[in-house]
Amino acid sequence: MNQAVVTAADGAAVEALAAQVRGGVIRPADAGYDDARAVWNWSIDRRPAVIVRCTGPADVITALAFARTHVLQVAVRGAGHNVTGSAVCDAGLVVDLSAMKGIHVDPAKRTVRVEPGLTWAEVTQELEAFGLAAAGGYVSTTGVGGLTLGGGLGWLVRKHGLSCDNLVSADVVTADGRYLRASATEHPDLFWALRGGGGNFGVVTSFEFRVHPLSTVLAGLVIHPVSRAHEVLRLFRELTSEAPDELTCGAILFHAPPAPFIPAEAHGAPVIAVGGVYAGPPEDGEKAVAALRAFGPPVADIFQPMPFSAAQTMADPLWPRGHQYWKSSFLTGLPDDAIDVVVEHFASVPSPMTPVLVDHNGGGAIARVPAEETAFGHRNWTFNLLLSSIWSDAADSASNVAWTRRFMTAMQPYAADAQYVNYVGAESDERPADLFGSSYDRLVAVKDRYDPGNVFNLYHNIPPSTGVQ
Ligand SMILES: Cc1cc2nc3c(=O)[nH]c(=O)nc-3n(C[C@H](O)[C@H](O)[C@H](O)COP(=O)(O)OP(=O)(O)OC[C@H]3O[C@@H](n4cnc5c(N)ncnc54)[C@H](O)[C@@H]3O)c2cc1C
Repeated sequence: MNQAVVTAADGAAVEALAAQVRGGVIRPADAGYDDARAVWNWSIDRRPAVIVRCTGPADVITALAFARTHVLQVAVRGAGHNVTGSAVCDAGLVVDLSAMKGIHVDPAKRTVRVEPGLTWAEVTQELEAFGLAAAGGYVSTTGVGGLTLGGGLGWLVRKHGLSCDNLVSADVVTADGRYLRASATEHPDLFWALRGGGGNFGVVTSFEFRVHPLSTVLAGLVIHPVSRAHEVLRLFRELTSEAPDELTCGAILFHAPPAPFIPAEAHGAPVIAVGGVYAGPPEDGEKAVAALRAFGPPVADIFQPMPFSAAQTMADPLWPRGHQYWKSSFLTGLPDDAIDVVVEHFASVPSPMTPVLVDHNGGGAIARVPAEETAFGHRNWTFNLLLSSIWSDAADSASNVAWTRRFMTAMQPYAADAQYVNYVGAESDERPADLFGSSYDRLVAVKDRYDPGNVFNLYHNIPPSTGVQ
């Protein structure tokens, strides 16, 4: 299964497919092929046989039927952000959802139904007109689909939970072409698996989320020179130990971009910042971040009341496109020794494009959801470490990969046996139990029911119990 046995399924069959789908297809010889196969991670260079630009569930059903008939590997593409490059495949068929950008807000019910090609920036913009916000990511460029199916960590995680915790229902096309609604009452086993089990179970053609009243938030960054990184990380540890649920924040080591709010002499310099969003009355937020803002003097302090849409984009410049190699782990704690390792390794980071993030998602709404309610298996860790190496020249790949590995090896004494599935690359040492926690066996049972042939096998795979790869 899943081995391509046709070369672009021969011209005539692809022509027939193109005539059947509303969104059209892109083949290797077509203009736009290279753009359509490019993903966020420049290290991924895959050449699909055919890319189906889906406009709705009917196109998805047709695309999957074509892949079944021609025994083609299937990749599913949302916004193409996943560092593993699971959105594209060699010689197979891409179910490209990126043009599906429908959105419908129900202000009375406080829900929004979104199609899977939307990014969080687009969802946030639409909701803002209604004084509502969704629990999306820390970065606005990410796709709704992959982020939600893997969990979804973002600025509202401590107040409103993971993105997947806010999922009310999902419309899904399964591997055999059925079109199902998954919710608490319809296919509840599938609904459970979609909330943390990633892209292993079917193609979600629309997501319905619960959304929350929110407009102006207190948000921003306090930036210090990296020479004060030990102190700032200790301050961050202290601040987060008492943080109200409204406050979600993270500590980031990076090289200061030439932003107008950063003094010119600091442009390009290594810095550390604590960034956060207070999702409540800004005046209460002032109290919650007072200790953070009193520490100084900072290079820059840009905490201020702002629309949530502005807060949602403030970290975007720190995670640009480029070659990417990511390692990540939840931490068992953030003792001084761990802080030493973080600061020491950041000092030798080979690429100035690389941010190192320690985010705080402990306690609050994420921890209040019972472990068995969703497939997301890691609710009780306080801190998560993300080493997101980013560089622009392929010639620098070896040094960046080696640095990232060295760094994560040094962090092992403080690393939990738990990784956030959306933050890790495809590594041979990846263990399903670390990615999916105690949900793994139940996820296999759901996989047996909805995708026994393992059609959806590119995302961190949960093979069915038959072992089909
Ligand atoms: C710059 C950047 C910032 C990020 N920031 C955050 C963040 O703040 N918080 C966070 O939690 N994560 C973050 N991530 C990680 C992100 O959650 C994952 O990369 C996620 O997989 C991206 O989803 P996508 O739809 O954009 O990507 P894609 O690469 O298009 O999708 C990844 C995989 O998810 C599955 N998938 C996607 N959509 C569907 C669908 N509709 N139906 C079925 N399967 C689907 C498929 O298997 C697909 O291959 C970030 C990643 C990047 C590169």
